[in-house]
Amino acid sequence: MFSWPTNYDFCYTLAGVISREGIGLHSGEKTRVKISSYEKEGYYVSFRDKPNEIFKLSQELIGSTMLCTAVKLGGRNLYTIEHLLSAMAGCGLSYIHIEVDGKEIPLLDGSAIQWVREFEEVGIKKAPNPDDFFREISKSIIINKEDSVIAATPSEKTKIISTISFPYKAIGIQSFEIDLNPKSFVEMIAPARTFGFKDQFQELSELGLIKGGSLENALVCHNDKWVNPPLRFDNEPIRHKILDLIGDLALVGLPRAQILVYKGSHSLNALLASSLKN
Ligand SMILES: [Zn+2]
Repeated sequence: MFSWPTNYDFCYTLAGVISREGIGLHSGEKTRVKISSYEKEGYYVSFRDKPNEIFKLSQELIGSTMLCTAVKLGGRNLYTIEHLLSAMAGCGLSYIHIEVDGKEIPLLDGSAIQWVREFEEVGIKKAPNPDDFFREISKSIIINKEDSVIAATPSEKTKIISTISFPYKAIGIQSFEIDLNPKSFVEMIAPARTFGFKDQFQELSELGLIKGGSLENALVCHNDKWVNPPLRFDNEPIRHKILDLIGDLALVGLPRAQILVYKGSHSLNALLASSLKN
């Protein structure tokens, strides 16, 4: 049986090639990716129609959209990369090449677990330890945006403590704390799906956005209830917030830090990522 490491002492890459297709959140169209190991550290992307143009993903290329994280690569956008990035960083994978046929990474079930299952299927192997899989920090960082706050303090390990607070009873106030390593990521974070609100969902669909969004790839909340139960965890939303945070920090390297977040969001996470980089 496959078992994930319980620390980030080594860096891994894939032992085989993954081919996966699925619906893109924005377009609603089928999109395909091929994921394999690469000779250099980091995450590299090429498009199927231009196989010789290979881009290294970096924090500077990130442009957030209202609905997902996108990167600008040679004049075109690649959308919805955040959950795949989270899966790779959370599992301790680097030295990765992603070949994309389409404009998006498939959304799959709205979590990271299906990517993890693909990694398990092909297996992982030790890669040279990159210098910047981890981001060392020497002093504490604290950033706020309106009433949301994110703080990182130096630590030997990566630990995340996160809280959200929503006025809807179905979510309410949720907190979660995790000592992050590949095993704890896979068991406690990767299965948590993205969540949204019914009104917002309807609005976006009417605008012709989220053509690929459905009850199959997001938990939908309506006032006091979930439209499409059952949940995978009682506190699935806060776990997904941590999944997003890991994806948002993947391109600067997970910090050896204790990270505290209150009302986290992609934009708040991006502020931490930029200040970690400086
Ligand atoms: Zn997400």
